[in-house]
Amino acid sequence: MTAHDIRAPLRAELDRWQAAGKTARFWLRDDDAIEPTPALEKLLGLTGAAGVPLTLAVIPASTGEALATRLADESQVLVALHGWSHTNHARPDEKKQELGAHRAADVVLGELRDGFEILQQLFGRQFIPMLVPPWNRINGALIADLPELGLETLSVYGAAKARSPIRLLNTHVDIMNWHGIRGGRPHDELVADVVTELRTRFDDDAEPIGILTHHLVHDETAWAFLSDLLTETITHPAVAWKSAASLVDA
Ligand SMILES: [Zn+2]
Repeated sequence: MTAHDIRAPLRAELDRWQAAGKTARFWLRDDDAIEPTPALEKLLGLTGAAGVPLTLAVIPASTGEALATRLADESQVLVALHGWSHTNHARPDEKKQELGAHRAADVVLGELRDGFEILQQLFGRQFIPMLVPPWNRINGALIADLPELGLETLSVYGAAKARSPIRLLNTHVDIMNWHGIRGGRPHDELVADVVTELRTRFDDDAEPIGILTHHLVHDETAWAFLSDLLTETITHPAVAWKSAASLVDA
């Protein structure tokens, strides 16, 4: 099958949205940035050429002036808080977590407060007060304390819970396979996932579709999917790629 065929179900679903006069909202979150790298250049090149807004989840303990300088003129790029140092504090038999219940709440919240200040100082107006927990996990008991730190939005993975003490801007399609051989997931599978997300929103567009990428570990399959997805969607009248800031303001 050609790449064209693989994307046909996506095109068909978007055509259905267009025929119904609907617009599907997408947003792009990429995790783990700390500094300029060739992979980051590739990501910025792809999204910049497509005119698609990008939110980078940046690790505050490891980042610095180099990334801030590189991003300063990127008008379509925002920075969100990606935990503190991306350190796993869970036991070996548990799923990885930095912001879990393994440490006292004031310790974890103190790290987030420090991280918030670092990113705000480095990135200024490009920083949005949104927390992206490493591994998309956070101790639920901490969430109600986030607004006090200035964090207005939480971004994890999966459909947003109906009841949340904080605004959610989630991601829904992760282009990477984290099990076994690390690499981009098969394109037909990813297209099917995006189509499923679109179908669940056709009658009730409760939340935008978040695409999740990790530029530092992309292989050719992952890069090709991102590139193809952008190419396919940016010209489709039923798609609007939104910045995280515009989505949380709405
Ligand atoms: Zn991460």
